[in-house]
Amino acid sequence: MSSPISWFDDFLGVAYRYFDLRMNVIPLFSDRKKASDLWHENVHWWPDPDIKIRFVESGDRYWFILASESVRPDHNTSFFKLLPMSENYLRFKKGHLGEAYLRFASYSEKEEKDVKDGAVCNCGHTKKDHNGSCTIDGCTCTKFTTFELKMLKKKKTVTNIKFLEEKDVKDDSISWNCLYVNKYKNSQ
Ligand SMILES: [Zn+2]
Ligand SMILES: [Zn+2]
Repeated sequence: MSSPISWFDDFLGVAYRYFDLRMNVIPLFSDRKKASDLWHENVHWWPDPDIKIRFVESGDRYWFILASESVRPDHNTSFFKLLPMSENYLRFKKGHLGEAYLRFASYSEKEEKDVKDGAVCNCGHTKKDHNGSCTIDGCTCTKFTTFELKMLKKKKTVTNIKFLEEKDVKDDSISWNCLYVNKYKNSQ
């Protein structure tokens, strides 16, 4: 391997949204400034065709991998996160058609008092349907919780997207590097 890749996983997760006519892959950060700084120091320098997104499935979890090996090798961070399989992930996998917009966003949890009446709880019902717990028949939600996602304006178009199983990871250099550095090396 030519140069060591520095791997970064200090972010919250990844959202998948249909927006602007394309599926969007949206790494989520707790802090907007941090998201913006990481974008400008790293992703900003990546030419779109060199950006790779990998999904390495392993049981009921998957590794999200976002990297570019091309430029500024000594000053370049790649991103990864081991995440639980989710409906949104599976929907993205089925519907992405080979390309996606990459954007960063900040994510923050909101309580009932912080939002308008029409705001939707994580249970799928609105604030109006809640009185502390959800009042809709059959809903087991005990507390209104929702989140706010603020997307940064900048985006990149990613076409190098692959879904792999962990057993096949050796055939894909960036996935192999990520799992080797962040999993196998430490478990020896
Ligand atoms: Zn509910
Ligand atoms: Zn609820």
